[in-house]
Amino acid sequence: MSFVSHQLRCIGSGERIAPDAVSSDFRDPATGELYEVEYPWSETRGDAASLRPKAQALRHLWAERRDSTLPIDASGVWRYRDLLPILKDENNAVTLREGNTPLYDLPRTAKLLGLDFLLAKHQGMNPTGSFKDTGMTTALSVAAERGYKWVACASTGNTSAAMAAYAARAGLRAIVFIPEGKIAWGKLSQSMDYGALTVQLKTDFDGCVKLLTKIVRENPIYLLNSVNPYRLEGQKTPAIEICEQLDWQVPDHVIVPGGNLANGSALGKGFTELKHLGFIDRVPKISVIQAAGANPLFQWFTNAEKQLHPVTADTRATAIRIGNPASWRKAARVIEATGGWCEQADENEIAVAKAQIGAEGIGCEPASAVTLAGLKKLLKSGHVQTGERVVLLLTGHTLKDPEYTIDFHKDLLATDVAEAAPYRRPPLILDSNESSVMRALEAEMAGSV
Ligand SMILES: *Cc1c(COP(=O)(O)O)cnc(C)c1O
Repeated sequence: MSFVSHQLRCIGSGERIAPDAVSSDFRDPATGELYEVEYPWSETRGDAASLRPKAQALRHLWAERRDSTLPIDASGVWRYRDLLPILKDENNAVTLREGNTPLYDLPRTAKLLGLDFLLAKHQGMNPTGSFKDTGMTTALSVAAERGYKWVACASTGNTSAAMAAYAARAGLRAIVFIPEGKIAWGKLSQSMDYGALTVQLKTDFDGCVKLLTKIVRENPIYLLNSVNPYRLEGQKTPAIEICEQLDWQVPDHVIVPGGNLANGSALGKGFTELKHLGFIDRVPKISVIQAAGANPLFQWFTNAEKQLHPVTADTRATAIRIGNPASWRKAARVIEATGGWCEQADENEIAVAKAQIGAEGIGCEPASAVTLAGLKKLLKSGHVQTGERVVLLLTGHTLKDPEYTIDFHKDLLATDVAEAAPYRRPPLILDSNESSVMRALEAEMAGSV
């Protein structure tokens, strides 16, 4: 079945091009800006109501597909393929059954913050342990359909893990550029496990991007960084999934970590399209939280300038250790259009928030925990009210970066003692006899009320 039906639209000039006319670095040569995928029914196409997919019918169809054993129906991304017709043949979809992630409640954290309830959409429960799978299944499927033999990305770790896995499924070769020494082991190991050519460059993420952009311009290699607009088409589907999981009740506020800033942009696109098509009657506020050591959007936001000033990024939340985010303009528009806000969280706030999420039995990687750290600040500043229904987007699995967790519990992260101490559970090294274990247990019981 042929269902390709889209154009690429420059977010700067609004000029449209055919999908196969795009340059290898996915930037408009005239404006230097990124593209977004536009369908005949998109809001930017005007008011062609007759072209719009019918919300009521699609809700039923999507629910029915849950019972199907077809791989593209079992995928929590391709199940919604009617709103992302980017392939010529939907059977070319390369899927690992991504999506379908849980929406948990966080009752203890909600109570602590004085909220009625708080939800966490755990995108770390994807096949390779991060939300990157939802965008990789779409963009890599496009690469495969167009006949590319090689795919590439620069990555802080999770994009490379996802790309390597999907490339392996499709039988494509993958080359990964990662900054040397600034990547969590879990992620580095995945890239090798899935058979990618893994290159550690003696530079940071932003340096990796620069070199890779040059290489894809001169070679038949398909770029899978999030400048690739097809990544965002997959990454918009958690917006649909959240609404479905809430029985089409829209949350008031969705809080997302910000690194290269594609994910917040994609969710904004997802919710906005759902509203345009009549699935929901309003769009939630979308707020983006950056690490204080990698905060160019936060700075832009507070200074309200026209231009973004890149920073030299430094944070142990390595997934968002990005100083020159490619999708900043898309993300800024989403924040402004939805009435959200941009905040930052320092290393101490990130560490404590991560421990609090862990203590709910959920766990996430440090970059995901900025959402909770940021929520606390948004409550203080009044950008979130206690009656709001808030969803935190947890982007990565806790096992991606076990070293960080161990360092926190062993007090090697230089966290604030008073805040971190209640959550610290360092391993005890004891003599192997009953009395020493019982002494430790009794001390613990006396300490907890
Ligand atoms: C990639 C990533 C982010 C940042 O997403 P962007 O789209 O780059 O803003 C946040 N958390 C985790 C775990 C990631 O892998």
